[in-house]
Amino acid sequence: MMRQYELVERVAAYNPAVDEELLNRAYVYAMQKHGTQKRASGDPYFSHPLEVAAIITDLRLDDASVAVALLHDTIEDTSATRDEIATLFGKEIAKLVDGLTKIDRLDLVSREARQAESLRKLLLAVSDDIRVLLVKLADRLHNMRTIEWVPENKRGRIAEETMEIYAPLAGRMGMQAVREELEDLSFRALFPDAYTTIAGKLADLRKRTGSDIETIQEALRQRLLEAGIHAEIRGRQKRPYSIFSKMQKKALGFEQLSDIFGFRIFLSDLGDCYRALGAMHTAWPMVPGRFKDYISTPKQNGYQSLHTTVVGPEKQRVELQLRTWDMDRVAEYGIAAHPLYKDGIAADKERLARESSAYAWLRQTVEHIAHGDAPEEFLENTKLELFQDQVFCFTPKGRLIALPRGATPIDFAYAVHTDIGDTCVGAKVNGKLTPLVTPLENGDEVEIMRSDAQRPPPAWESVVVTGKARAAIRRATRAHARKQYAGLGRHILHRAFEKLGEPWSDVHLKEYGPRFGFDDAEDLLVAIGRGKFSAEEVMSALFPGRAGGEDANGRRRSGWIETARSSLDFHLPGRSRRGRSGAEQRADGKALPIRGTGGDMPVRFAPEGGALPGDRIVGILTPGEGITIYPIQSPALKVFDNEPDRWVDVRWDIPDDSTERFPVRIRVSAINEPGSLAEIADAIGRSEGNIDNLRMLERGRDFTELEIDVEVWNLKHLNHIMRTLRARSVISGVSRVNG
Ligand code: MN
Repeated sequence: MMRQYELVERVAAYNPAVDEELLNRAYVYAMQKHGTQKRASGDPYFSHPLEVAAIITDLRLDDASVAVALLHDTIEDTSATRDEIATLFGKEIAKLVDGLTKIDRLDLVSREARQAESLRKLLLAVSDDIRVLLVKLADRLHNMRTIEWVPENKRGRIAEETMEIYAPLAGRMGMQAVREELEDLSFRALFPDAYTTIAGKLADLRKRTGSDIETIQEALRQRLLEAGIHAEIRGRQKRPYSIFSKMQKKALGFEQLSDIFGFRIFLSDLGDCYRALGAMHTAWPMVPGRFKDYISTPKQNGYQSLHTTVVGPEKQRVELQLRTWDMDRVAEYGIAAHPLYKDGIAADKERLARESSAYAWLRQTVEHIAHGDAPEEFLENTKLELFQDQVFCFTPKGRLIALPRGATPIDFAYAVHTDIGDTCVGAKVNGKLTPLVTPLENGDEVEIMRSDAQRPPPAWESVVVTGKARAAIRRATRAHARKQYAGLGRHILHRAFEKLGEPWSDVHLKEYGPRFGFDDAEDLLVAIGRGKFSAEEVMSALFPGRAGGEDANGRRRSGWIETARSSLDFHLPGRSRRGRSGAEQRADGKALPIRGTGGDMPVRFAPEGGALPGDRIVGILTPGEGITIYPIQSPALKVFDNEPDRWVDVRWDIPDDSTERFPVRIRVSAINEPGSLAEIADAIGRSEGNIDNLRMLERGRDFTELEIDVEVWNLKHLNHIMRTLRARSVISGVSRVNG
């Protein structure tokens, strides 16, 4: 195993300002945490994070990345926590390690949910910081290098995932060396026979054509020398997987493949690249259609090179890539080649600290990766654009939930399960209580708090962004309204029975539905509640001759209001035919109990001058809408004077634990002086009233008249607010409107 000082030396080789103390601490901490854990190979577990750190040093990444590589499995596999790591190594490193833990959970997700095709993009989205992905790739690379120790039945899945997700991801990030190695390792694990065959043939070919290659290489060297260009030439054999996939795609046999060999020509500067290209093209004929200039127009991932194929000295096709050493570094390491640490330049710590913000640049590069330039990536990119409108969040158990951007915890709850959405009362996002309307961010862990007593408020419909949540809220709202109308219908029917002195029983109710042409009893009750079917019809069918279906003039008295009136014994409160007071009615329990808008009756409150628990109230029936509640003294009731049938006797029945607020309008007269409006708002706020609306009625020389709609719990609460307002010196008068 690599020693502590060896690791530090590897980093110091490219970063003289290495934070030795940090690396030493991370080394010791990870070693202690993993303790006696063993890998499948029997090696101490710690050898794995150490090898991952070594790969990170090959990529020449910063100290934090190396430390993160050492720590990357501690949260998932040991007693370490994010908080502990934050305390010991700072928030930045803790966040990176946490990101890796989340990706580990993603792996689990991909298994159960076949999300592989988009998982690559998920990874991009979940990793705020590109270093998370770099360490993840290094982690996967080491796991693939040691996959022979993994039980055979598990290898396939890991290799498949690597092939489908991590190798293309490395390619997207421009890290060709990592991509090729991941591809070959996966290929070998997935198709061991094919791999052995191709690797064998390649070895054969090398033996047979070894001299040819040397001849060609020598000819190239000579040609460049004559042109006075200093260059290094390396022969290059295609990798087994790339040959395999070419054979698959083009349905060719191994022997038919023409470009198994190629050469890379490394040059000291950009001008030499074009001069060398000219030298090649004048010496040997170029193959048409094979020349590509990725220097003047680099690939999106930063790749630069000149590609060409010539008919070479031995009359065979020779594939050539010409590039500078800098370009080669980008070609091999991609994003990881970003020159945070230029070779040989001594860097002081301050500058390094400044430059680590250069990773913001890397984040931007991720956006570029998302727009690859190869034609076959076109389709994928179309999907990617969709994907950029998404956020990816997790359940506490690590299940991934993909949502459109702007989605709230409510959307999240519904995405998990409709029942969870319907009973959702609160949410913790990343462990913190968060308002349900807060838009979620990538990587958020969302815990939904539920209550079986909850039903989704209709107002949520305008808050959510997913169709599923909207439909479910609508469904729940409709179901609830239906329940309310059924409640009203039952009440009306019940009273109709009482009026005739007939016993009421739910058992009979069951039979009535089909009897009157409804699917079931509830449909009948809803129809009665909505005023679409009259209780009177039910009564005259059940008790012929007794229910009084016709009035004195022989006109059929039907319709909902009439029925409701006769069956509920409605009357004008205070103007009752029998002159009973509201209190008396309450005593005999005939008044309809009002439990707020969420109760079991279809109830609304008058838009202005609403009624508050504690007020004496009356209801006004509107067919199809239910009951509108007014305070008994409301002038708005005047318009119903000629429609006594619509008046309903009602009483408050608000449960003790209700949190429903009721609208009420107050009029305030305030002295014109700076800050008086703020004083009013402050007084109301401090008394826990919600201001819903505020209008300036009149602005006099000295006074301003305001009308304020406030939401309060009850009359007592309103009185408290009004007292508080009156106590302020800027306020000269407060009164309730319509109340
Ligand atoms: Mn690992």
